[in-house]
Amino acid sequence: MPVLSDIMDGVLSLLFPPRCAVCNTLQEQVLCDACRTAFVPIGEPLCRQCGLPLDPKATGDEHCAECRTTPPDFDAARAAGLYRGALRTAIHHFKYAGAQALAAPLAAWARTHLVLPFTPELLCPVPLHKQREALRGYNQSGLLAEALGQEWGIPCASGILTRTANTPPQMQLPAAQRKHNVHGVFVANLDVTGRVVGVVDDVYTTGATLNECARALKRSGAARVLAITIARVTLGGDADP
Ligand SMILES: [Zn+2]
Ligand SMILES: [Zn+2]
Repeated sequence: MPVLSDIMDGVLSLLFPPRCAVCNTLQEQVLCDACRTAFVPIGEPLCRQCGLPLDPKATGDEHCAECRTTPPDFDAARAAGLYRGALRTAIHHFKYAGAQALAAPLAAWARTHLVLPFTPELLCPVPLHKQREALRGYNQSGLLAEALGQEWGIPCASGILTRTANTPPQMQLPAAQRKHNVHGVFVANLDVTGRVVGVVDDVYTTGATLNECARALKRSGAARVLAITIARVTLGGDADP
């Protein structure tokens, strides 16, 4: 005899049949195959340090112009895909529409496309200020860091970094102000002396936030920091995460 919870599940799935959280079509999976295959992975050639896709026709330089003149504080950054099209929609829904169930399929997709230049010993997310996290109900980067940690078998220590100021969202600011907006707002609560740390965010836009996290981790002794994101804004792409 079916138990009450099975009956309730049946009623709920009749009333609210499962849908893809990205394209909203009726699907068993929270991320359907059509949406997943529409994501555009980032491949070589890349800037060795910040992971920016480079012109395949250009030869010689392994670093982008920015990393040659003002190298970032993180040792490397890598993103799985281009922040456009279906992946952009997926991240929007994940972040702003409460589609938390997308964390696991996004992390699983990212794992198949990320080629890490070195392996972190532990992961931590870019933290939200506690007031913003309370409003949203979750830290999207925290869910991604945990899901990626499970994919790779790397421990995730969510509490390593704290955000000390509730700064305006980076998306509301022009690129030139983003660096200033996050300057000094992260502190590391843990001594990470000699550790290799991966800091996880959903989207790499200018790299300012991830760079500040890397600075805080290095101040706390980290040997190397790898910035890991699901997507990356590139020229000609969308720049409003
Ligand atoms: Zn879909
Ligand atoms: Zn670069």
